Amino acid sequence: MANTILVTGGTGYIGGEVIDLLLGQGKTVHTTVRNIAKSEARLRARWPDAGANNDGRLKVFQADLENDAGWEEACAGCDAVAHIASPFPLAVPKHEDELIVPAREGALRAVKFAHAAGIKRVVLTSSAAAIAYGQPVEKTHFTKDDWTPLDGLPVAPYAKSKTVAEAEARKWVAVNAPDMVFCSINPVAVFGPIAGDDLSTSVEVVKKLLDGTIPLTPNMGVGVIDVRDVAAAHVAALLAPDDTVRDGRFPMQQKYMWLREMAASLRESVPEYAAKAPKRNMPDFLVKLLAPFVAEMNTLKSELGKTRDVEGTHTAQTLGLTYITAEQSLEDTARSLVAHGVLKP
Ligand code: NAP
Repeated sequence: MANTILVTGGTGYIGGEVIDLLLGQGKTVHTTVRNIAKSEARLRARWPDAGANNDGRLKVFQADLENDAGWEEACAGCDAVAHIASPFPLAVPKHEDELIVPAREGALRAVKFAHAAGIKRVVLTSSAAAIAYGQPVEKTHFTKDDWTPLDGLPVAPYAKSKTVAEAEARKWVAVNAPDMVFCSINPVAVFGPIAGDDLSTSVEVVKKLLDGTIPLTPNMGVGVIDVRDVAAAHVAALLAPDDTVRDGRFPMQQKYMWLREMAASLRESVPEYAAKAPKRNMPDFLVKLLAPFVAEMNTLKSELGKTRDVEGTHTAQTLGLTYITAEQSLEDTARSLVAHGVLKP
């Protein structure tokens, strides 16, 4: 069983939660950050008992997804890798390659450097975006066997980046490292408690639903899963017997909710913030009308009325999880935003 594990992207929402669980189980964790001067102190402050430098149980390495430097050192001495780092911005980039190139290069570096270091287990954080996009509106339910097609309907850059990264990493392993146990975790939008005020794009949605930024909900939905379950899935996939996870694809969703349902749930569970939470949908024609002038509306336009309900029970059963309910996860996100001073009274 793995005792020393590389978690890429230790500064991130999911990466931090995975490190938390692994350190709590007594593991030694290597983590990569893009800028060690900027990030190491923050990581050490979060886990003060894991050592003040790389002599302790938390070792921090600088490694960018787009550069070989630091990867060999980060992998040295590890038994398994959770490759979590990948760009996940709120805004749509000017060019899709701003996301596709680092996502693909990072995923390939993770499996190549792991293989070169003799590591036999890699868990890749992919996404439901690699499963449920680019399909006709009639297709509303998705499973681990679905892939976002890249040769048909238009696919947003983020979904493309996750699809390309997962597909290419899988292919590389199959051809070059057939004895490596590789699997992916494919979460829908991730919510739940935050550790700091640097918000992941998914958590921004809850903030915006409660701070008045979204006065009317666009007619679109989001799959909900809790960050604590996503982290637990990574840890289970890192430590499970080979045959349980080999070549696995683990979509994670507790519930698919329309934004108006999310707002209603938050109004009920966090009543002190109910006043600014939207009560009505924005008419589709208004989203379309604003699309040429407001970048966010332009992104939302193609999502109107679409259902992307992703089957998550196979993952829960295989990895031994009982998902936190979507409503609880949303409430915990909101309360955590308040506790961190992100959401003001
Ligand atoms: P996050 O908080 O924004 O974390 C992203 C992490 O990736 C950060 O540690 C970031 O480092 C790192 N990163 C980005 N570009 C990098 C680069 N060029 N080189 C090195 N590191 C880089 O996002 P998150 O929500 O935790 O997402 C983590 C993973 O989960 C991503 O692969 C994302 O696609 C996937 N995912 C997220 C969700 C969700 O709803 N949150 C859903 C499905 C899948 P810096 O701190 O230096 O920026």
